Amino acid sequence: MNYYSTNNKSNKVSFKEAVVKGLADDKGLFFPEEIPQLPKSFFNEIEQLSISEIAYRFLKPYVGNDLTNNELIDLLNDALDFEIPLIKVHDHIQTLELFHGPTLAFKDVGARVMARFLSKFAANDNKVTILVATSGDTGSAVASGFLDVEGIDVLVLYPKAMVSEIQEKQFTTLGKNIIALEVKGSFDDCQRMVKEAFTDKELKEKMQLSSANSINIARLLPQAVYYFAAYAQLQDKAKPFAISVPSGNYGNLTAGVIAKKSGLPLARFVASTNINDVVPEYLKKGIFKARPSVSTISNAMDVGNPSNFVRLLELYGNNWDKIKSEIIGYSFTDEQTREAIRSIYKNHNYILDPHGAVAYLGLIEYLKTNKIQGIFLETAHPAKFYDTVQKEVSGKLEIPQRLKESLKKEKKSIQIGNNLSELKDFLL
Ligand SMILES: *Cc1c(COP(=O)(O)O)cnc(C)c1O
Repeated sequence: MNYYSTNNKSNKVSFKEAVVKGLADDKGLFFPEEIPQLPKSFFNEIEQLSISEIAYRFLKPYVGNDLTNNELIDLLNDALDFEIPLIKVHDHIQTLELFHGPTLAFKDVGARVMARFLSKFAANDNKVTILVATSGDTGSAVASGFLDVEGIDVLVLYPKAMVSEIQEKQFTTLGKNIIALEVKGSFDDCQRMVKEAFTDKELKEKMQLSSANSINIARLLPQAVYYFAAYAQLQDKAKPFAISVPSGNYGNLTAGVIAKKSGLPLARFVASTNINDVVPEYLKKGIFKARPSVSTISNAMDVGNPSNFVRLLELYGNNWDKIKSEIIGYSFTDEQTREAIRSIYKNHNYILDPHGAVAYLGLIEYLKTNKIQGIFLETAHPAKFYDTVQKEVSGKLEIPQRLKESLKKEKKSIQIGNNLSELKDFLL
């Protein structure tokens, strides 16, 4: 499979090149030339397939001959070694728990697969420096995915004082080949600095930079896998279903749309978000207007200019009517989010994290007028947002052992300003 740049369809590269580069030379995002259809037999057998088998069948055409079949199978077995269960919350509503990986967030899925692709592809080349901007969870998932990986350094850029203590501890305490840069600015600043670094001439000459943000195709594509895993676990496959996706940079939803275009029989996507609602606004009015992000309690979705939005447009040929026939968007306030955490705990004894709570709210809103079954994605373990969540569940939230260990360790970070020149000084 070849990948073209969303800025120029004639700029094509192989899977390997797209993964190593992260972003195209013309600043566009890489996009697969076609979306292969999964055969009927895949859907007939799906209940018997493991997550890594589903991943292999889905990803094989995208990887092509850049890895042998056995290399790809081994890589996926190693990366996707945790469960992704579909859990009933109440009538007609189930949640797909994406937080059973090592850092307890859905980003483990993409980051672990991507880290292994990159270390395979970079093995013979020079040392690669991964730049990753994080609003919270990406940093730890990427850092953990790359920890101790030969030939790769990881630089995590994160907005000072805007991620939770638990999140921060997960990527500032690892040491070794992982360095945390605490940026005096917002997540959008971090994301912009990373993008600018990639197109900086001097940096390009002096080092090999790559990205682990959801703009890297090797992080995006594996995320389609759990949409099939959700379908595999659905008891009633004959009844139509909708999936609600808590969205920030829209990598998760874009992967879902790719799954649908590959044949997943899904009725409707719900794009759920907090008050950073540029995409729900677009879905309603047909006008996309990026704006500075505002902080909320679901901080991994505090994004004012979602990086994967261009890919979403690409998937629908830039056609607003088509997009809104398949995706409906809703946004919710922090107060509504808190109320959802409280009431789902009280009435159904299930503890939502703030992102899952937003997704739950979007799903319920959609199902009010559509009598089908619904799945919402739980993208983080609630303990990652301990301070917010425990207040709403009368202190009943337990911290998993893995998180307790990182909390005990000492934070190590380097502070820099929110501009490219400070980042360059550090890199060079
Ligand atoms: C990153 C993240 C999201 C948003 O995912 P996108 O792919 O950026 O839309 C939602 N919830 C959690 C917990 C996250 O870490």
